[in-house]
Amino acid sequence: MKDSGSLGKVAVLGLGKTGLGTAEYLADLVPSKAESVTLYGGASSVPNEQTRALEARGVRVVCGTEDVDGTYDLVVASPGIPLDSAFFQSASAHATEVIGEPEFAWRQSPERWVAITGTNGKTTTTLLTTQLLNAGGFNAKAVGNVGTLATGEVRTREVDEWFVAELSSFQLATTVHMHPRVACLLNVTPDHLEWHGSMEEYALAKERVFANMGEGDLAVVSCEDEWCRAAIERLEKRGVRVCSVSVHSEPTTDCAAFVRDGRLVVRLDGTEQVLASVSSLAINGDHNVQNALVASSVALELGIPSNAVIHGLLSFKPLEHRIEPCGKLDGVEFINDSKATNVDSVQKALTAFVPGKVVVLLGGHDKGTELSTLAHAVSARCRAAVCYGEAGPRIADALRLEDGEMGLKIENAPHMREALEVARGLAHEGDVILLSPACSSFDEFRSYVERGKVFKQLVSSLVSQAGKDE
Ligand code: ADP
Repeated sequence: MKDSGSLGKVAVLGLGKTGLGTAEYLADLVPSKAESVTLYGGASSVPNEQTRALEARGVRVVCGTEDVDGTYDLVVASPGIPLDSAFFQSASAHATEVIGEPEFAWRQSPERWVAITGTNGKTTTTLLTTQLLNAGGFNAKAVGNVGTLATGEVRTREVDEWFVAELSSFQLATTVHMHPRVACLLNVTPDHLEWHGSMEEYALAKERVFANMGEGDLAVVSCEDEWCRAAIERLEKRGVRVCSVSVHSEPTTDCAAFVRDGRLVVRLDGTEQVLASVSSLAINGDHNVQNALVASSVALELGIPSNAVIHGLLSFKPLEHRIEPCGKLDGVEFINDSKATNVDSVQKALTAFVPGKVVVLLGGHDKGTELSTLAHAVSARCRAAVCYGEAGPRIADALRLEDGEMGLKIENAPHMREALEVARGLAHEGDVILLSPACSSFDEFRSYVERGKVFKQLVSSLVSQAGKDE
């Protein structure tokens, strides 16, 4: 039996950033707050410098297996491990409880959390929200999926510090008691279905972000997709305050965020604040308007004055690999949106540009996604599409089927480099060449980051060869 107040025997699953960081944090808690710590690396794991350092601090490290032995009071699982995997199941069979790392971090330090989830826009909204809170004099830190492990920040957390946590569906699938003061759901569109099993499971995992919220809290939810609208209905039934967010219409509810006469407006409990104009934001496209509405709603709810919100909104610059301008040549602008790894994010990115003046680069690793909505958007908004990589031929076929005789130019190229060359030949002065591939990058690159960096290098060498950086 573990002592009350102690975590007891704890195991951690996974040898990535989450597993290592959590084990490191736990190592400091032995023996006062934890009895023992065991780190299971997984089937293909092998000991390394970091595991040896952990062993030196008293952590038991088990590599090369997914069989969990012994019994544990608590297991903290890394987000890459699906709930129905043998590894997770083996841990469940040997533990009182299996949770994810954000839940663990929250239990260690449960005050002042804002949680942000959705299929797309999480990082942008998390960083923008953090900026707005800091602009208003709060002490806020972005944690979670943005790349800063929440557990790692708990130890040095200041008393007044807010955690703005980006949470993925994987992380939310293993939350239990997490209870943020404000939680946001940006959108739910098909993605990661191979992990979750079905769209319903995926949407439910996202909705867990609200599971423990009550009357004094605020749920900020888009009302522009059916999954989010269903979540709003359930929240309202439970008596949770909901701020409905819409870029395209004005919700009639007491709490809402929307655009009126070209300006962002947030209404909380009937009181409206008119904020910056859409055209003054440095981040473009309908999706970024949505992200700005969500972040502003959070900031105003927590008491940030509207002038500080406006200041924060105006000074927020596009993030790397997200509709990031990266050069101009012969009157054509190059945009790196390598982070657009699914269909919905491409559709949103296209709204950031003048219709008919976009040459889009589409392709990469084929996730087997349904392509007709993408094809429809590309046909409606682009001059040309260059399809490349593993998914290129399938995307080109879908575009041809959709476009018929409408005049979209559709070309194929083997890789991104050649696709960029082809795109240059198709773009007119005043156009943009947009890398917004709708696919993950693994057929050609290690990650979307590498893909985006290579794209930017290709662009900058084109610009410097031409000797006229405009
Ligand atoms: P995430 O962290 O959820 O992946 P990011 O902020 O990194 O989201 O943006 C990823 C991609 O999704 C970007 O390339 C952008 O084009 C698109 N995107 C950003 N915000 C939204 C949104 N609110 N709705 C749909 N797509 C979006």
